[in-house]
Amino acid sequence: MIKTFSIQTTEKRELIDITEQVDDIIAESNIEDGICVLYTPHATGALIVNENENGLKKDIMRYLETLVPKNDYKHNKIDNNAEAHILSSILGTERTFVIQNGEVIRGTWQNIFFVELDGPRPSREIVVKILKA
Ligand code: ZN
Repeated sequence: MIKTFSIQTTEKRELIDITEQVDDIIAESNIEDGICVLYTPHATGALIVNENENGLKKDIMRYLETLVPKNDYKHNKIDNNAEAHILSSILGTERTFVIQNGEVIRGTWQNIFFVELDGPRPSREIVVKILKA
């Protein structure tokens, strides 16, 4: 099955926890064993897996700023968001999970996040494809 859901972002850069939405879609699918692929079709967004702790979320976003500092990028002459494109390329727009006994295998401190890199945006999509093993 395939399902798409969308979220709204409210900041220039932020982490949005989408674990609950993904878990709900997997439960809905009734697939006990399989593979779940998450994909976000945006050139200035990304998907990561990590702990949902406020300090850490700030640390990650601050680190991303140092990783790709503001610069005289050529793309900025077009729409002034080259840093967001570069970070999306580095972080990636796809994550794959194993489904076992109807649930995604993930650690206690591993939540799934959409990374907004050029917000705020009224609608960011996440595609969930679930394959039965
Ligand atoms: Zn752009």
